[in-house]
Amino acid sequence: MATIASALQAVKLQMAAIGKRPVQLLAVSKTWPAGAIREAYAAGQTAFGESYVQEAIAKMRELSDLDLEWHFIGPVQSNKTKIIAEHFDWVHGVDREKIAQRLSEARPENMPPLQVCIQVNVSGETSKSGIAPAKLPDLAKYVSSLKGLKLRGLMAIPEPSEDRTLQRQRFAELRRLKDNLPEYNLDTLSMGMSNDFESAILEGATLVRIGSAIFGSRNKR
Ligand SMILES: *Cc1c(COP(=O)(O)O)cnc(C)c1O
Repeated sequence: MATIASALQAVKLQMAAIGKRPVQLLAVSKTWPAGAIREAYAAGQTAFGESYVQEAIAKMRELSDLDLEWHFIGPVQSNKTKIIAEHFDWVHGVDREKIAQRLSEARPENMPPLQVCIQVNVSGETSKSGIAPAKLPDLAKYVSSLKGLKLRGLMAIPEPSEDRTLQRQRFAELRRLKDNLPEYNLDTLSMGMSNDFESAILEGATLVRIGSAIFGSRNKR
């Protein structure tokens, strides 16, 4: 069994081998204990992604001695917007006006704006999360008008596929959607997970969200 430090190093080498452009690595630590995060931190990782609010907040408390950046990557339920706005640095799954408005209103004034990505449902996704591409321009306009939020970019979770051509098509679609919104100076394309991050980087990902390739398979826990 590889250590977290060696798995992290292997992922970084794979990422670097793809291209010269720097790509941010978000370590997805959902379901893994605080100790695993501490191990990754000791190996130089500072940004972590979590999908379950209560679990994440328990870990934040345990790890409050470390300077970590916390990204919420799960679906945002409206009854969780306040606690998310109070604890996280980033939210990747904003896909509705109401959620954006609630996050903005709940963001404490003494904190910097919450950094957000709009989640888009790219072609072939069966998931209910993510806004339809046709509605993206209106939501982007709305999100960028909110005081408590800073619109940074777009995020997608395409249906898993082993077909690299298909993987790349879907990531390319998200990139084109971002390129069609030049007025917001978006700097983030959050796309790519353990099984498809190479395709995502080839299509312009600036941030990849990687869990099992670093921490191990969640199913085998
Ligand atoms: C769990 C999760 C990931 C990480 O998935 P792996 O396949 O373990 O790399 C990335 N993004 C989101 C939104 C997730 O929920």
